Amino acid sequence: MRERRRLLVANWKMSRTPTASALLARAIAALARPADVDVAIAPSFPALGPVAEVLRGTGIALAAQDVHAEREGAFTGEVSAAMLKDLGVSLVLVGHSERRRLRAEREADFAHKMARLAEEGLAPLYCVGETRAERESGRTADVLKLQLEALDAFPEPPPGLILAYEPVWAIGTGLPATPEMAADVHARLREGLAARYGTGFARAARILYGGSVSPASAPGLFANAEVDGGLVGGASLVAGDFGALLAAASPRA
Ligand code: PEP
Repeated sequence: MRERRRLLVANWKMSRTPTASALLARAIAALARPADVDVAIAPSFPALGPVAEVLRGTGIALAAQDVHAEREGAFTGEVSAAMLKDLGVSLVLVGHSERRRLRAEREADFAHKMARLAEEGLAPLYCVGETRAERESGRTADVLKLQLEALDAFPEPPPGLILAYEPVWAIGTGLPATPEMAADVHARLREGLAARYGTGFARAARILYGGSVSPASAPGLFANAEVDGGLVGGASLVAGDFGALLAAASPRA
């Protein structure tokens, strides 16, 4: 029996309308789901309501792709943690590399976002990962160490904290990290959690892998005890592919 339940999180990014999202959510909810694998779906903000309707009673959690760092106020176009909670969201991505790259968001922003989530009782899925240049110049450990510093704002772990290791060079490229690379980084991240919050917390915390998880790469990645599931982009947009990931994620696979 695994100590930590596996979790697959579908990140649909800006790729489906609300109508198409509801249809895809229905197809995923109809898949055979191993009892020992948790699932969450992160559609775009406008699709949260329609997808919440579809997921009601299915046991699949509703996730959001981002949250604003402030509680409320004059922030045109932004979405607060309280709004997400009201829609039934329980898990929120923070620190995705596309936000780091395209919106220049940094650790201080992520700490603020996680604080807002904690106030509403929402769990953060905090994403970290190095670029290809950083890996090739031997800076992976330093980069991850810096990214984990977003947690230093929290003497106690943010409630429900989950980490995702997403090497930037693997996202959407079809070139996933090897299971060995993922295991090595996950072990380091677990050490970072242990140093902050103790070994008991670190042992129980889930660390997902993300970056070109596919029906072909999933069995190798999930064969690794350090990998507690996946944050999945492209392969979560095809129900059949996601079904193959669900089967591969089961510890009984
Ligand atoms: C992602 O965007 O978080 C991701 C992992 O995408 P993909 O699975 O397509 O690489």
